Amino acid sequence: MSSFKSGYVGIIGKPNVGKSTLLNQLVGQKLAIVSEKPQTTRTRIQGILTKPNYQIILVDTPGVHSPKDQLHAFMQSQITETVEGVDLLLFLVAVDEKLDEEDRLALKTINKENKPTILVVNKIDLDKTNAEKLRSQLSLLSQFCATQLISALEGIGCQELLNKIITQLPEGPQYFPEDTLTDRNERFFVGELVREQVYRLTQQEIPYSVAVVTEEVKERSPELTYVKAVIYVERDSQKKILIGTNGIKLKEIGQTARKEVEQLLQKKVYLDLWIKVKKNWRKDPVALKQLGLK
Ligand code: GDP
Ligand code: MG
Repeated sequence: MSSFKSGYVGIIGKPNVGKSTLLNQLVGQKLAIVSEKPQTTRTRIQGILTKPNYQIILVDTPGVHSPKDQLHAFMQSQITETVEGVDLLLFLVAVDEKLDEEDRLALKTINKENKPTILVVNKIDLDKTNAEKLRSQLSLLSQFCATQLISALEGIGCQELLNKIITQLPEGPQYFPEDTLTDRNERFFVGELVREQVYRLTQQEIPYSVAVVTEEVKERSPELTYVKAVIYVERDSQKKILIGTNGIKLKEIGQTARKEVEQLLQKKVYLDLWIKVKKNWRKDPVALKQLGLK
């Protein structure tokens, strides 16, 4: 009889290398929001993959970068905690990017903990020519137990990566019931879907100044669920931009987010969106706590 394997697997790498896309691809569900803007992921999210002979708990993290404010410091601490708490690490790089200081910073954090680490070179759908160079440069900086080239977007190499993950995992218990997909609740995902639309539909500094809190999810009737979400910004001027001329921007955010939330809840949704100003919340420890970011 074959034994059951299980473990926590941390996904580490710079912003935008495709960590959240990989999590979604491996779990087969959109758990983490993805955008072309760096630093979309703020908190750790677990995605759980259960099969008859294994359970993998994937931990998506915010990108590694040097801390600039309290929010950044929080995001960095999420990475350090992840590295400490997992059985295995996936270190992700994108094939179209050069090695830089942030990669070195990430590897430093990793090397300190001495955890088995798989090097994952992502986005090979774009161009594979740089992959070998990246791999040899990286192998000078850290010891990897395996390497895998993938396209998280197209699923190329993902089954092979899964096999390598399983090989590395220890024998262990099934930590979660087999139908559990994530450690996060419905409200968290509703908030993230709204935040994703803000990222998609606004420019410059706005996305980074936004936090979303879902205050209410209530079934009004078997057909309709009422959802109240508050979008927090840091300044009045940002509130104005988010509302837009005659409310057009907010309407657009609300309409697209509602469709996403309906997909998630598998119900018709009335999405009640509010915008509030919380002055400089990114620098305010109390506000960060209230927003679930500390
Ligand atoms: P994260 O910041 O590391 O979590 O990166 P995301 O998962 O949010 O992805 C950042 C951007 O890269 C998004 O626009 C993704 O669609 C894109 N991306 C992710 N994986 C791939 C891939 O395998 N190939 C290509 N071409 N793009 C990808
Ligand atoms: Mg991400």
